Amino acid sequence: MGQYVCNSCGKTHEITPTIWKCDCGGVLDLIKEMPVIDASVWSHYPNSIWRYFDTMPFVKESKTWESITLGEGQSPLIVLDSTEPNTYVKVDYMMPTLSFKDRGAAVLMTKAKELAVSKVIADSSGNAGTAIAAYAARCNIACDIYLSDETSPKKVAQIKAHGATIKQIHGTREDIAAAAQKAVDDEKVFYASHVYNPYFYEGTKTYAYEIYEQLGGAPDALIIPVGNGTLVLGAYYGFKELYENKLIEVMPKIIAVQAANCAPLVRAYENGDELAKPVTNQGTLAEGIAIAAPARSKQILEAVRDTKGTFIDIQEVEILSARSKLSEKGFYVEVTTAANYAGYLKYNKSPQEKIVIPLCGAGIKSS
Ligand SMILES: [Zn+2]
Repeated sequence: MGQYVCNSCGKTHEITPTIWKCDCGGVLDLIKEMPVIDASVWSHYPNSIWRYFDTMPFVKESKTWESITLGEGQSPLIVLDSTEPNTYVKVDYMMPTLSFKDRGAAVLMTKAKELAVSKVIADSSGNAGTAIAAYAARCNIACDIYLSDETSPKKVAQIKAHGATIKQIHGTREDIAAAAQKAVDDEKVFYASHVYNPYFYEGTKTYAYEIYEQLGGAPDALIIPVGNGTLVLGAYYGFKELYENKLIEVMPKIIAVQAANCAPLVRAYENGDELAKPVTNQGTLAEGIAIAAPARSKQILEAVRDTKGTFIDIQEVEILSARSKLSEKGFYVEVTTAANYAGYLKYNKSPQEKIVIPLCGAGIKSS
């Protein structure tokens, strides 16, 4: 069945349908061996995130994913502009629900199905909620999604279409998470959280495997937007597995981007802190990364430091101009993704540096 270990106190826990954090409040990680990567088996699987099934913590014979996959993954990796031949965009908005969150949701809901749960609850700024709702529908599992009453109406419509029950909450992102967590504990159901459940990162780590295959190695740097760290940590774990298997020689630097109006991780990095102190969200257009108190801040800071990366914060006025610049190149992205591109424009890159930028969410998701 496998076990979790608390990232704060080290206590181990059985994996059950209802556990989502340690008694001490700490976040849980999976106890697992470093996978032995055998690239020769990848072609035995459909061209999706499931090419890397053997590196995921499932029983080898398990076929559960086959009835759940919507074909997620293997998004295109494209040169951003002929004038910048070493900068690539990974077009992760070309996913079943139009955001990179499908990588994590497909794997997390496959685990939920294996645990035979009948209902899941999740909270989200929008994209993760959409992804969880779609895969819950695919699994025939009931689903409640907790959202802000200010969430983009297009994301709300997308979630409703999949038959999930929407619980709109007036309050901060932290208030919404707290409401969802209370419901999870009261109803004793599975918390399909992209923040707390470590299976989600087993899906987002495929971002690294795909880049490795598409580039024939690792890039020098990854520019990644960071709120709760679902892609930063996934990319870090994926490249770490490739590194430990000696398939790459150097870890790519992770350059993590936050909106200056909600930048607890940038502050912690600058201060040399081990954990991020909660901040007050001053309001940002980048709703997908507006996280004032990230639960996995310790791990995010460790990951960025381990890769010798850095953090960048960007101003609101830079976000919309970055969105226009991407549109002019043919890429129509949601506002949070534009914030990440603004981070790239600020990053002091060297001419030969090979860089990958994710285009996390589609433009039509934003108002
Ligand atoms: Zn603990």
